[in-house]
Amino acid sequence: MAKSEKAPVDFIRNIIAEDLETNKHNGRVVTRFPPEPNGYLHIGHAKSICLNFGVAGENAGGRCHLRFDDTNPSKEEVEFIESIQKDVHWLGFDWGDHRYYASDYFEQLYDYAVQLIKKGKAYVCSLSGEEIRKYRGTLQAPGKDSPYRDRNIEENLVLFTRMRAGEFADGEHVLRAKIDMASPNINMRDPVIYRILRMHHHQTGDKWCIYPMYDFTHCISDAIEGITHSLCTLEFEDHRPLYDWFLDELETRCHPQQIEFSRLSLEYTVMSKRKLTQLVEEGHVTGWDDPRMPTLVGLRKRGYTAAAIHKFCERIGISKSDSVTELYVLEDCVRQDLDVRAPRAMGVLRPLRVVIENYPAEQVEELTAKCHPNDENMGTRIIPLTQEIYIDRNDFEEVPPPKYKRLSPGKEVRLRYAYVIRCEKVIKDEKTGEIQELRCSYDSGTLGKNPEGRKVKGVIHWVSAHQSATAHVRLYDPLFTVPHPDGEKEADYRTFLNPDSLKLLTDCRVEQSLKHAEPGQHYQFEREGYFYSNPDDAHQENLVFNRVVTLRDSWTKAGGKP
Ligand code: ATP
Ligand code: MG
Repeated sequence: MAKSEKAPVDFIRNIIAEDLETNKHNGRVVTRFPPEPNGYLHIGHAKSICLNFGVAGENAGGRCHLRFDDTNPSKEEVEFIESIQKDVHWLGFDWGDHRYYASDYFEQLYDYAVQLIKKGKAYVCSLSGEEIRKYRGTLQAPGKDSPYRDRNIEENLVLFTRMRAGEFADGEHVLRAKIDMASPNINMRDPVIYRILRMHHHQTGDKWCIYPMYDFTHCISDAIEGITHSLCTLEFEDHRPLYDWFLDELETRCHPQQIEFSRLSLEYTVMSKRKLTQLVEEGHVTGWDDPRMPTLVGLRKRGYTAAAIHKFCERIGISKSDSVTELYVLEDCVRQDLDVRAPRAMGVLRPLRVVIENYPAEQVEELTAKCHPNDENMGTRIIPLTQEIYIDRNDFEEVPPPKYKRLSPGKEVRLRYAYVIRCEKVIKDEKTGEIQELRCSYDSGTLGKNPEGRKVKGVIHWVSAHQSATAHVRLYDPLFTVPHPDGEKEADYRTFLNPDSLKLLTDCRVEQSLKHAEPGQHYQFEREGYFYSNPDDAHQENLVFNRVVTLRDSWTKAGGKP
């Protein structure tokens, strides 16, 4: 089971440690991760996964169930079930034999509902949905009893049986718990626990035309599975009295403990599944796996590693205070991980041709460089130097600002792993004035040492013009232009979509050895960032690299502007 060397500490882990001490749940730790299969998992889910599977893994005999919370057939699809399993595995976790569906319990849930009716704790209500809302009251005003609240047990049992038998139209009746319409907690005002809905279910087919509601289903599913700690996000805090009410009334053998923690929100993205679905369906992104999405498939396709996501979840920790995590935290985690695992290479993203006039035209020097500055095991690579090379357009300024360390007319710069060159001449297109080529000279005495009497500060990357490979590079920037796209009042989050979130560069040049890049390999393109050759692109004619992250956090410094 994937986990860090040192287990993190937080208030939930403290509670669990204490419960183990006092033998509260017979010394067991059983958690569950309960996704609703109505979308792909995102980085927020990863927080919950790392917590639930994490604490289970840290405690001897602990286990974590994967439970599909599939009480809402209208929005659920098998595609989502498969992707969720794949993503949990990708994160390095395994549920073993403990994969469940809430729908596995439909029959038991029905029996529990009947039990509540028999206790006089549930009734069939025939108000319309609209009326139920009206009767519910508000935060300030108490609710009003439904006129059907006093239906007798016999009548309720008959009606509920007939609801199941399909004798009524959708919405004609519901089953409600009989709690307290005057409760200050609106969740306790006779919540609906069953509704009539004729809809095909991916697991149970057309067997059912009544479906249990989430609050009723969740606590009972937890109890059936013998969950000890039911960890959920803060919005369920007000549902906890209801969670406990159902289990107390039903006297289940096991009464799990619900504990809430704050959900992850991340800058420059949205996390609600409704919005993510909208982005996909309206074509703002290419799919759930678009590398700009906060989904795990998207992050994976972009080149994020599972280790980076673990690191991130560990770093943000678990607490009860709501906050928005800054994007640089996530980026920093992937940067740290790739720094260790990514071999170095030179890639010129915006090539500018340089002819080294005094370098012999036929000469090819095979220069050597380490693949990784700190990891000898990665070995060395050969970098051919020829008369014609490419440097990046961004490394040349015709009129340099003060203290400019890169190349400019008459000035010197070092080619990484090679010689010092000087720019002698700038060749431009006669009509457009665009710079087409630089003519340079090199100092043959400067391989690996400074020229005598001159200090050359700048070092730039380059590749041989003929002994290099062409590549396409996708540069990603955040999907939104503001840190809180869904926190801006008055404006739809879609108005903040970043039109420049994806740039495709098609004439990049990379070291020749990358022609044989294994799909799935990460590289650090020196001075540029971390890049990933996605196996999905393996069929493409060109080499394709996704930029995972830049080398430095360049845009927090730019005032948070992507
Ligand atoms: P949405 O409300 O957008 O549909 P959800 O929370 O209902 O999202 P689920 O599939 O029900 O999504 O979530 C499964 C589990 O993941 C739940 O336990 C939920 O609390 C947790 N989870 C979802 N989003 C986050 C988040 N942003 N941070 C932490 N945990 C999350
Ligand atoms: Mg949910």
